[in-house]
Amino acid sequence: MTALLEVEDLHVAYGKIEAVKGISFTVDTGQIVTLIGTNGAGKTTTLRTLSGLLTPRSGTIRFDGRPLTGIPAHRVVALGLAHSPEGRHIFPRLTIAENLQLGAFLRKDGDGIAHDIRRVYELFPILGERARQPAGTLSGGEQQMLAMGRALMSRPKLLMLDEPSMGLSPIMMRKIMDTIAELKASGTTILLVEQNAQAALGLADRGHVMETGRIVLSGTGAELLHDESVRKAYLGED
Ligand code: ATP
Repeated sequence: MTALLEVEDLHVAYGKIEAVKGISFTVDTGQIVTLIGTNGAGKTTTLRTLSGLLTPRSGTIRFDGRPLTGIPAHRVVALGLAHSPEGRHIFPRLTIAENLQLGAFLRKDGDGIAHDIRRVYELFPILGERARQPAGTLSGGEQQMLAMGRALMSRPKLLMLDEPSMGLSPIMMRKIMDTIAELKASGTTILLVEQNAQAALGLADRGHVMETGRIVLSGTGAELLHDESVRKAYLGED
């Protein structure tokens, strides 16, 4: 298997606050890799750095065989890396269809865009039913679906999802997790940041546990699900 993403000794700081302190990991083509960990561990900072929104202090990022470090966010999208951010960041006054169109802003293939919008509506029928409504009228879970759909509209080689289950009911969460599994089955490579460690590790080929800016434990999803320290710290077991 070839690594689509290679992160090596990545350091990221906000002024004097070192949020990411030398992490290394890879994501192979076709895999789901998850980063789990407590609040403030540096997971979101890592994703924001990969998508070019933050500049690392040091370390290297290689994506699809080329260096990614220092490349601005819009060019990162063009290279095939899409980010569905925490807190959703959809455009509430634009319609659902318009939000999806924005996800394809770098593409010129009208037929392909129309095809992919239909695919998003197949994945999330509620978005198709509400296509002409302002996105701000969607529930939190539906907005999460729209954020994922919008990220998919760039036809990414790697889809990064930041806490897609945040604030969702168990049913909605299941739906999002099933969709992530479906995306993997259709060939999308996924880097998933989740607070819900159980759900994330259940889906993931590999997982990394982050604590205060470092990766403290790595393994397959199944290994981490059965690891005693993970079970105590993240799965609420005594
Ligand atoms: P959460 O699950 O709570 O989102 P996280 O693992 O994603 O946590 P980050 O958001 O990456 O963690 O935060 C890592 C550290 O960086 C934290 O100590 C946080 O307070 C700090 N931090 C994050 N954003 C900023 C910022 N804009 N300015 C200063 N410090 C920040």
